[in-house]
Amino acid sequence: MAKHIVMLGPPGAGKGTQAKRIAEKLGIPHVSSGDIFRENLRNRTELGRMAEEYINRGELVPDDVTIAMIRDRLSRPDCRDGVVLDGFPRTPAQAAALDTILQEVAGAQVDIVPCIRVPESVLVERLTGRRSCPRGHVYHLKFNPPAEPGKCDHDGLELFQREDDTRETVTHRIQVYNQQTQPLIEYYEKRGVLVNINGDQPIENVSAELFAALAQV
Ligand code: ADP
Ligand code: ADP
Repeated sequence: MAKHIVMLGPPGAGKGTQAKRIAEKLGIPHVSSGDIFRENLRNRTELGRMAEEYINRGELVPDDVTIAMIRDRLSRPDCRDGVVLDGFPRTPAQAAALDTILQEVAGAQVDIVPCIRVPESVLVERLTGRRSCPRGHVYHLKFNPPAEPGKCDHDGLELFQREDDTRETVTHRIQVYNQQTQPLIEYYEKRGVLVNINGDQPIENVSAELFAALAQV
């Protein structure tokens, strides 16, 4: 089964939700660039300070900063046998850097790129109703509520609403995706590793489609 996996799709497509399930099932780390940035924001690190204004405006953090952060994370031993990347790469420069990094740290390449497709009209409601756990688990007020309101089912931590999950910023983030990240679909298609997944169905059904695709590789 494929082990070096890149999740593609617009904000709200369900990348994080599905990445967590894949990571658990395959026993590989889930590396979310957004989660790493947010952890750095919370801990007020230098990296967090550099990224903050971009994140709050719904813009991409500059490539050099983002690539250095991911290089650091992928260099840790737990990523050697596989990883599910969520939110990275987001630009052609990041995709090229990822190829180099995987080769250097694991002698590996991207095995499969599931691209979760969801109509734009669905994304805004998903994002404005999203509630997040500091450890990266995600819920939705209507579509995927926690057992106890406001608390993570997995670790009991208090859920929060991301500052960039407001209607205005969400709309801008979708535009940014269309302009800067969409070209990656073609990049991975040309290599024959892209697989389209219908994300406009219940979470369980999306997972089933995804696992069937992963089993083919
Ligand atoms: P992404 O990482 O692509 O931005 P998330 O996994 O965080 O997306 O999901 C965005 C929101 O939509 C979350 O609130 C999540 O609970 C919800 N969600 C995810 N997948 C589905 C689905 N298949 N149907 C309905 N809601 C979903
Ligand atoms: P979503 O899951 O809704 O798509 P993320 O958590 O992946 O959102 O990203 C939140 C924000 O973090 C982005 O809007 C951007 O500012 C920053 N970010 C995350 N990943 C990257 C990346 N690969 N390159 C540049 N900025 C990024």
